[in-house]
Amino acid sequence: MGRPALMILAISLVTLSAVHGTIIHVEAVEYTVTNQAETAPGGIIFNNQIGAGYAQQTMDAATQLIWGLFQQTTAADRKDITQVLLLIVENIVINGQSYPAVTGNNQIQVSADYLNGYNGDVKQEFTGIIYHEMTHVWQWNGAGQARGELIEGIADFVRLKANYPANGWAQPGDGTTWDQGYSVTARFLDYCDGLRNGFVAELNKKMRDGYSDNFFMDLLRKSVDQLWSDYKAQYGN
Ligand SMILES: [Zn+2]
Repeated sequence: MGRPALMILAISLVTLSAVHGTIIHVEAVEYTVTNQAETAPGGIIFNNQIGAGYAQQTMDAATQLIWGLFQQTTAADRKDITQVLLLIVENIVINGQSYPAVTGNNQIQVSADYLNGYNGDVKQEFTGIIYHEMTHVWQWNGAGQARGELIEGIADFVRLKANYPANGWAQPGDGTTWDQGYSVTARFLDYCDGLRNGFVAELNKKMRDGYSDNFFMDLLRKSVDQLWSDYKAQYGN
């Protein structure tokens, strides 16, 4: 009867080492949500129709999706960020123009005014915004050399992959230049990703230390302008 006992011991050792391994590899990110516009109409909408708990869950889900899409499997692949803050603010006005959301480093701001004025499913729109903004938290920016339009295109590519496209988005094949930004660039990047599975992940990895349009050539053996022509031809425009 000594044998089953030995087996139990062996199993518990395996379990222990597995648990030990898990502890070593957990890199927890803390998500903090603060509604600074609680008395504004949009702040009330946030509390009643979205909620801090849902916002935290969405930030975590977005992080998991982004790390997967970007193939960032270890901490060394990622930015060293342990806390992400979400602030619901009354409005976001930059140079006289209103924005739905803005992200700097590890802080995301979402405009209560925007939530209040949104025509449609505000929770769904908020979720899409979080996928986009969380991408800014985690993505590389070519050490400041990449165009803002590409940065925004990658963020909308993630939003597309999360299946939360916004109303009024460009359709596949739309747009006049590949680096028009936002959904036009996102659709083009999705096309490139179809040519080489994981293209956007590879592009983002290359953007850790700098940026060049030649990254498209390196990864897809065609210039970005040729790829754009091919893409437009595929949709007959
Ligand atoms: Zn953005």
